[in-house]
Parts: sequence; structure tokens; C-alpha cells
Amino acid sequence: MDRQILLTPGPTPIPPETLKMESLPIIHHRTKEFMDLFNELHENLQYLFQTKNKVYSLASSGTGAMECAVANLVSPGDKVIAVACGVFGERWIKILTAFSANVIPLRSEWGAQVKPEELEKVLKENPDVKTVFSTHTDTSTAVLCDIKKYAEITAKTKAIIVVDSISGLGGQELYMDDWHLDAVVSASQKGLMSAPGLGFISVSPKAWGLVQESKSPRFYWDLRAFEKVFATGQTPFTPPVSLLRATNESLKMIRKKTLKNVWQETKELAQFTREVGSSLGLKMFPKDPCEILTSFKVPEGLDGQKIVKQIVEKYNISLAGGQDKLKGKVVRIAHMGYIQKADIQKGMKALAETLSSGVF
Ligand code: PMP
Repeated sequence: MDRQILLTPGPTPIPPETLKMESLPIIHHRTKEFMDLFNELHENLQYLFQTKNKVYSLASSGTGAMECAVANLVSPGDKVIAVACGVFGERWIKILTAFSANVIPLRSEWGAQVKPEELEKVLKENPDVKTVFSTHTDTSTAVLCDIKKYAEITAKTKAIIVVDSISGLGGQELYMDDWHLDAVVSASQKGLMSAPGLGFISVSPKAWGLVQESKSPRFYWDLRAFEKVFATGQTPFTPPVSLLRATNESLKMIRKKTLKNVWQETKELAQFTREVGSSLGLKMFPKDPCEILTSFKVPEGLDGQKIVKQIVEKYNISLAGGQDKLKGKVVRIAHMGYIQKADIQKGMKALAETLSSGVF
């Protein structure tokens, strides 16, 4: 089968060196060989998160890491704020509601970020808030949330801040320690240039107090169990060895290139995509755009879902349509991870031809 060009915001393409690692013979996880891999991967994850805190690897997609954060940091009835500017902010609200938290949703109009002043106001009105949840880059609306400012504001209160950087990590600036982020969750299949199936969570010493106190039910996600065996280079349950080994390979590549260079390249690809879009008369959907993907408004009278379907069938290029209330209204093109400029060029050409053909 021909390689499909993936321009979706996760999963993203995987470098050949990483693919090779996925196919190596399996090793047992209670061995020195695994311990060495665990320790090397951990150091690379700390670099990605820009933290001295531990980063725990979970056998799950990103949503599993989000649920792990809630189960470990929130007790039933806790008052929390969930900043939401798209589908993934709404996901925090859904998980928090499932865990019986007392959620104050702080929503923006889709396309815009929640202004830091609004968070400041709600925190002032609710001094008993224990935790603020936010997304870093909401992949559904392509909005960048100002987590640095949210964290500055939150740090002045007793609350902690938890960030979903599932699509942001690796492509968008993030400094867990310097920005005082108390917990960050991510996943393998986007900026980390790896296959889907790994979630990650890092928790600051301040937030660790809540992990000890949480009264939410947890077993598989109990971070105390991960912590207990951490020093031995182990995980409490059978780890996805092949995925960990492959992800480590991609992280080594990012580290060699440096995060600063990756962020810069992502910015340049975003600029390129937007310039081509603008030359086609396409308008950006978000007012507060992130760099890891571009969301274009679909011209009036056209159906974005049909455009995406036509492009994959005719060109074998996978773009993303809209989610939830944006279904049919936007077309999204990612420029994170291992996505190459030449592939974006092909994707934009296919989009231009499809729009001008009008036969969909
Ligand atoms: N948050 C964000 C910002 C995402 O982009 C995604 C995946 N699109 C998720 C959460 C959910 O992650 P997963 O599909 O890996 O569970």
C-alpha cells in the first residue's frame, strides 16, 4: 500500500528509525535491559516536559492520562475550575463531572482563548478552588491557551494548575518548572512522533500532596503505585515495552535537534501553511491560534467533511475536518512532529484543487 500522507493532528507520521524500534524482539520488563530503557526514556521525558519532576508513563491514550490526573488530584466534591475553549476543555469538564467534582466551567467563545483576567476574577470570587484545569493547545479549535499566565495567576492562590498538553508538547513552548505548572499530561502520538498508546503525567511536589489525599477511586491509575516502584526502573503493571522503546528513539531525535529548534520549525511550518491558505483566499478559524496546527474556515456553502473525504480518496492525503459544532465548518492541517514541509505542500495543493473543482 502507498504511504498515506498524514496531516492530521494525531496520529502523526513516525520517523523510520522509530518504526524500526517497534519491530525489535520483545524483552522482559523485569530485567536490567528494561531498567536502562526506562531510565533513559525518563530523562528524555523530563527534557520534553522541561522539568525535574518525575514523569510517569502510562499504557493509555491521552484521555487515560487526563483521567489519571483527575483520579489522583481531585476528591469528590472538590471545587475546581475547568478552562475550556474547545472539545478538549469540555473533556476535562466531563471527566471531572464523572469524578463528582464541583466544576466551575470557564468557557470562551470557540476560536478565542479564555482571557487570563477572567480566570483571575473567578479565582478571586472562589477562594476555595483547589485546582484549575486547562488545555494547552485545544486541537479542535486550534486555539493556544495562555497557560503561562494562568499558572502565574494560580500560583498566587492556594490552588494548583493541571495542563493537558497532549497536542502541544514538543511543538509548542512549555516549561513545566519555570512556568510553575503543577501537573502536565501528554501522549505519544502527536508532537512526540510515536505511535498512539502511551500517556504521560508529571506532578509537582506541591501537587503530590493532593495525590496522597485524593479520595477518588483509583487502582490502575494510582500514582502512588507508580512511585513505589519508580526507583527500581519499573512500572507497577506490564508496560508496553515496544512503544516505550520506540518513543525513546523519537525523543532522542527531538533532544538532539533541541526543543527550541523544533518549536522554531513548527512556527515556520505554521507560517508557510497560513501563507498558502491566504493565497487561496482561506481564512483562519481561531482568533488566538496555536502553532502546531492550522484550522481554516470552509468557504460559505461548502461542506468540510466532504472536502476531507474527497482529498483522502483522490490523493491519499489525510487532513482533519471539524469536531462537534465545527463539523463541516473547518479543515485542519497539522504541522507538528515528523510532518514535513513537502507533505504540507502536497496537502495544500490537493486542498486548492479540490476547492476549485467544486465536485464534491
Ligand atoms: N487533549 C487534546 C488537546 C487532544 O488533542 C487530544 C487528542 N486529539 C486529547 C486530549 C485526547 O487524547 P486521546 O485521543 O489520545 O485520548
